[in-house]
Amino acid sequence: MTAAPPRLLTVAGSDSGGGAGIQADLKTMLALGTHGMSVVTAVTAQNSLGVQGAWELPVEAVRAQYRSVVDDIGVQAVKTGMLASAELVEAVAELLAGTDAPTVIDPVGISKHGDSLLAASALDSVRTRLLPVATVATPNLDEVAQLTGVHVESEDGLRRAAAALLDFGPRWALIKGGHLSGDAVDLLTDGTEEHWLRAPRHDNRHTHGTGCTLASAIAAGLAKGLTVPDAVRAAKEYVTGAIAAGFALGEGIGPVDHGY
Ligand code: PLP
Repeated sequence: MTAAPPRLLTVAGSDSGGGAGIQADLKTMLALGTHGMSVVTAVTAQNSLGVQGAWELPVEAVRAQYRSVVDDIGVQAVKTGMLASAELVEAVAELLAGTDAPTVIDPVGISKHGDSLLAASALDSVRTRLLPVATVATPNLDEVAQLTGVHVESEDGLRRAAAALLDFGPRWALIKGGHLSGDAVDLLTDGTEEHWLRAPRHDNRHTHGTGCTLASAIAAGLAKGLTVPDAVRAAKEYVTGAIAAGFALGEGIGPVDHGY
């Protein structure tokens, strides 16, 4: 009998095209040697061209999936992605408030194609209920602007955005500055320590699933017992490699690669 690998849970939406969401999470978790489990919050009809439809699951279905996994198998880290509505955000926040496992909150708002994956009416629940239970919150620049009102245009702006996000209560803020020009620069801070993460920009448009992959890779590191800065550094390396190897699928934006 072999020893069980670290157990990881994603609470997120399904991407039928397999590039982002639950599917990217599970691929990342497998690639990083962990056992991935899933609580599906919403189902999207999606491909390389965008999101053609999205349907939320009932709150009871989300709670039941979570209880089934946690009560029997147990989790060593949790990652959240698309939560769709205020009701689901609040239910998930309540569930996570009861766990000792580290939580990586990717406050998914809008897809690369501009499709909304979170109702505007849910933003306040993300701020007041979900962010306070986060070990690490990982917004991109659009998401942090929506949540805090801070619009980042420079590296110094990343500091102001991180400070504003930390006011909502996550232990660490990872602000992903990938949309700024120049190198892909992210700032990780807990309000005391500052870690700047730089990676050369890859000229590859096939980046679908980047955010989901990064957050899952951070959760994998935390489940293995890494500190937050070490888990984020390792995850950034993983996602940089996955972006460099991203490939064309369909007519639009293809997925990052998980080492097929
Ligand atoms: N679809 C689902 C279900 C997601 O969870 C996400 C991102 O978190 C996306 C789509 C968007 O992915 P991207 O912005 O990388 O295209």
